Formats: sequence, structure tokens, C-alpha cells
Amino acid sequence: MANQVIPLNLASSQPYISIIIPVFNEEENLEELGERLVRTLTAMDRLFEIILVDDGSSDRSWEILTQLHRQHPQNIRALQFHRNFGQHQAIFAGFQAARGRVMVTLDADLQNPPEEIPKLVAKIEEGFDTVGGWRENRQDSIFRKFPSFLINQVMSRVTGVKLRDYGCMLRAYRREVVDSINQCHETSSFIPALANLFSRRVAEIPVGHAERERGYSKYSLLKLLRLNVDFMTGFSNFPIHMVGVLGICISLLGLGFGAYLFLRRLFMGPEVEGVFTLFAILFVFVGLNTFALALVGEYVGRIYREVRGRPRFVIRQELGGEDVRGQEPGAGGQE
Ligand code: UDP
Ligand code: MG
Repeated sequence: MANQVIPLNLASSQPYISIIIPVFNEEENLEELGERLVRTLTAMDRLFEIILVDDGSSDRSWEILTQLHRQHPQNIRALQFHRNFGQHQAIFAGFQAARGRVMVTLDADLQNPPEEIPKLVAKIEEGFDTVGGWRENRQDSIFRKFPSFLINQVMSRVTGVKLRDYGCMLRAYRREVVDSINQCHETSSFIPALANLFSRRVAEIPVGHAERERGYSKYSLLKLLRLNVDFMTGFSNFPIHMVGVLGICISLLGLGFGAYLFLRRLFMGPEVEGVFTLFAILFVFVGLNTFALALVGEYVGRIYREVRGRPRFVIRQELGGEDVRGQEPGAGGQE
């Protein structure tokens, strides 16, 4: 039943599962990670590849990756960035290199247990396009969890796909979703949200989460904030719309104030020095200015949307027309 959804062709040398892992200064974790991954995936009895992307580490990470590749030349691949480009860029690079039918991303620090991979793959085989892990017992401090809670609310609203945990990188994607992601050329992006844009059926399942035992978190509060500003500006024009609404409100207030002063002048005589009238006029113009700024922002937003060049649509299936396409013009005509 499951194999009807994604055909499993064990005869081909093409891997069925690709695991993509960003690595940035994780020397203490890589050996255990490699060993646990290989053990879990071998037990799944599927052809697999593990792609580790070294995001410009300055410790011994690359050396260890080289060793891992030597130990498992068929299954472990490694890419090395020239310098640190960021976790999401590393995953993009992995996506481009991956050959599997199902792709799974996870962190290198063993906070995402590799033993959960079979659960995610099984869910994809049920027919889902994207399966997110949801860290049920998240082992992080409240200072990490509370901002995450807010971010999940915002992201759910912006993308229209309600998920409990947008921050969890233990996720699985169907090949087609990753193909669409690969066609997006924006430099700053947020993969879980991008994947939702191209997925028809999204599932979320609880997964384990461990404390970081070795190494340190690579995300300071500032870096986290930047990631989220990137996300907000990359996925919605909501902030600029808010500026527009603010501009209109200020203008209306100014007009209201002006009308009140006018009526007051009619019935009670002019106010002292006329300074309030000046204020009312100022309000109207400040409001108009703010509104004009938002309007320009809207156009800039549109330009940005064009420049990103995301695919406008994704075709899932096609009936008819296939036989014509692969042939030379003129071949196969009626003769
Ligand atoms: N990472 C990366 N490049 C970076 C920052 C992080 O490749 O610039 C990797 C890191 O090695 C880990 C994953 O991204 O595999 C998640 O990072 P981390 O565990 O530090 O984040 P946290 O779990 O604290 O959110
Ligand atoms: Mg971590």
C-alpha cells in the first residue's frame, strides 16, 4: 500500500532516502551521529545516502567527515563550504546534491534523535508531502521556548499552515517538494515555511528531543531575531501593510481634529494662537507621508517578489502530451 505512493526500486542504485545535515563546529558529536545514523538507516532496509554539509567549521569537523566518508564511501557524502554561510544555506546545498525520493533534514548536534527517522519516512509513505517533527518534550530553556512559541503563532498565520513547531529541523520532504524549493533563488529563506508553500498535505508528528550534551548552540538571540525578520519580510507584506494602515489612521485623526477645531471656531470663536489648527494640519500631512511610504514599500515588495523568482505553480501530474515532448520535431507525424 505504502509503496504505491512512492515506488521503492531496490534494483536501482539511486538512494531512496537522503539525509541532509548542516554541520558547524560539531566535532564532538559527529562520530556518534554517523554511527547512530548508519545503524538506524541500515535497519530500514532502504538504499540511503547521508549528506553532511560543513558550513565553514573551524574545528576538526571536516577531518571527521572525511573519516566517516572513508568508512562508508557508498552512504556518507560530505560537502564543505568555503566559509560559514548559515544553517539554511547548508541545507539548500544538501538539497541540491541529494538524489533520494524522500529527504530528511536534522541537526548535527544529536538534539534530534536519528532513531526517529523511520517514523517520518513512514508518514511520507502514507501520502504526505512534508512531515514536520514536533518536539514534544523540548529540552531548551524557557528563554528559547517562549520566543519560539510566539514565532510559531506568527508563522502559522503568515503561511496559513498551522504547525506547532516551525523551529524543529527534524523534518521529511517528498522529492517533488525539494525540487520546487531548489527552484527558489532567494538567498535568505526559511525552509520549513518554504516547504509548506509547495506541499498539499502537511503532517506533524511528535518526536523526541535531547539536551545538547556537547558543543554549544550556534544561535545567539540576535541571530535568531535576524532569522525571523528574514522570515517575516520574505513571506509576507504584512509589516508594510501595517505602516499603510497607520498612515491612514494618523491622517483621519488629523482630519477629525481639524473638523472639531473648525466647529469650535464657528460656535465658540478661535482658539488661542491657532496652534492646534497647525497641529491638525501637521497630522494630516504626517499621515499622508507615512501612507506614501507604505505605498512605495508595497512596490518594493512586489519587485522583491519578482526578483526571488519562486515558481509560480507546481504541476503534480499530467495526462496526455507526454509522447510528443521527447521527440524530434516532425518525428512520429502521420505519414
Ligand atoms: N549550524 C550551521 N551553521 C550555522 C549555525 C548552525 O550549519 O551557522 C548547524 C549546527 O551545526 C547544527 C544545526 O545547524 O547542526 C542547529 O544549530 P544549533 O544546534 O546550534 O541550534 P539550536 O539547536 O541551538 O537552535
Ligand atoms: Mg541544537
